[in-house]
Amino acid sequence: MGILNLLRRNTFEHGVHPQEHKELTCRLPIRRLPFAPTLIVPLSQHAGAPAVALVTPGQEIVRGEPIARADGFLSVPMHAPATGVVDSIRLMPTARGPKTESIVIQVYGGSSQEVLYDAPHDVDSMTPEQIIQAVQDSGMVGLGGAAFPTHVKMKPPPEHKVDTLVVNGCECEPYLTCDHRLMLEQTDDLLSGIHIVMRALGVERAMIGVEDNKMDAVEAIAGRLAENSPVSVHAVKTKYPQGAEKMLIESLLGRRVTSGSFPSSVGVSVFNVSTLAQIGALLPRGRGVIERVVTVTGPGVRNPGNYLVPVGTPVRFLLEFAGSTPKANELILGGPMMGMSVASLDVPVTKAVSGMVVLEASDTELRDRHVQPCIRCAYCVEACPMHLNPSTLGLLAAKGEYETMAREFHLNDCFECGCCSYVCPANIPLVQYFRIAKAINREKAA
Ligand code: SF4
Ligand code: SF4
Repeated sequence: MGILNLLRRNTFEHGVHPQEHKELTCRLPIRRLPFAPTLIVPLSQHAGAPAVALVTPGQEIVRGEPIARADGFLSVPMHAPATGVVDSIRLMPTARGPKTESIVIQVYGGSSQEVLYDAPHDVDSMTPEQIIQAVQDSGMVGLGGAAFPTHVKMKPPPEHKVDTLVVNGCECEPYLTCDHRLMLEQTDDLLSGIHIVMRALGVERAMIGVEDNKMDAVEAIAGRLAENSPVSVHAVKTKYPQGAEKMLIESLLGRRVTSGSFPSSVGVSVFNVSTLAQIGALLPRGRGVIERVVTVTGPGVRNPGNYLVPVGTPVRFLLEFAGSTPKANELILGGPMMGMSVASLDVPVTKAVSGMVVLEASDTELRDRHVQPCIRCAYCVEACPMHLNPSTLGLLAAKGEYETMAREFHLNDCFECGCCSYVCPANIPLVQYFRIAKAINREKAA
């Protein structure tokens, strides 16, 4: 690949440039977190039907063993993140809000915690259908934060002909660096996962998009690609939300996904680098998702880093391990733009949690300033990557006109990136308004 291709700056319209704050962790290699004494595995940590428990209280389990089965096609199984004993199956708090049925595991402190359960596959001889089934059996979901079952994305509607696998290595959220480290440290697993998914989708081309603030990752990947590889890596402009599916497709291919449509309507499937690296690592061994890399960072953390965390680890354990400062006063799971502020430290790390950002009081003061009336500056309109009018949507939300927002102002095209709230000089919590409006519309439609 020529150097010009490496430097090509691809981008999309609108968006914002928040401060990156990635220097805290981007040079720190991934480290394994010890096992917490108790792990909490929610049966619903993905989009779709919750998994169904296969174990009962008192049962001994080994690390990697299936402990819950998928309940239908739009569902995934769960695997034991540690060797231990099932304490109970009960409602537990999660970052999503409502309490969720969860398998609570007491970890055996004396165990070597080797993964003793696997069912190796000869991936090269598998049919696309067998690969899709194996991906579902691994419990894989979008590890970039969406938590949508991965195998479902590998089966686009038959009327859509997918020709390109787009690989999302943008990691455009401030603070987060887990995908960056993974591209540097697990490059071969990533490329192996890309080839597996290309076979399942029947596509002959894959394009990896990486923001140009991670040129070392671009070079690491480019260095592993053969001369005529169907896989290419491209530096895209560092701009938020470059890693949103529709934005990345526009940046790399110049194709626009129209309102209400899926990427497959323009011949594309998009997968995150961490999802693909896990597929590359797990599928040949026939193993399930039991851990993930989490960036633990922010001014409120004493020892920021990228930690390999067993699924189900309570946030409190992770925070105690990394250490917090006396002024730490807010914990966000995910990045600061799209993540969720958590009210309880007892919630577990789930498959979709890519980061834990701890802020101090001085960081949150700015955001907690007084909300003022809209001054019609149109900054939010200029920032919205979906070309919506957040100002008008905000005014309608204040009047409770949620259906008008959806019917006439494309509320459902809003993917809650937070750009509008970020630029609003009147501090109007636009994205929160839009989340509430969508939830109320969904409830009315049910
Ligand atoms: S949160 Fe929604 S309305 Fe606001 S900028 Fe993002 S896509 Fe546009
Ligand atoms: S950025 Fe805020 S103040 Fe400006 S138009 Fe949008 S909602 Fe109104």
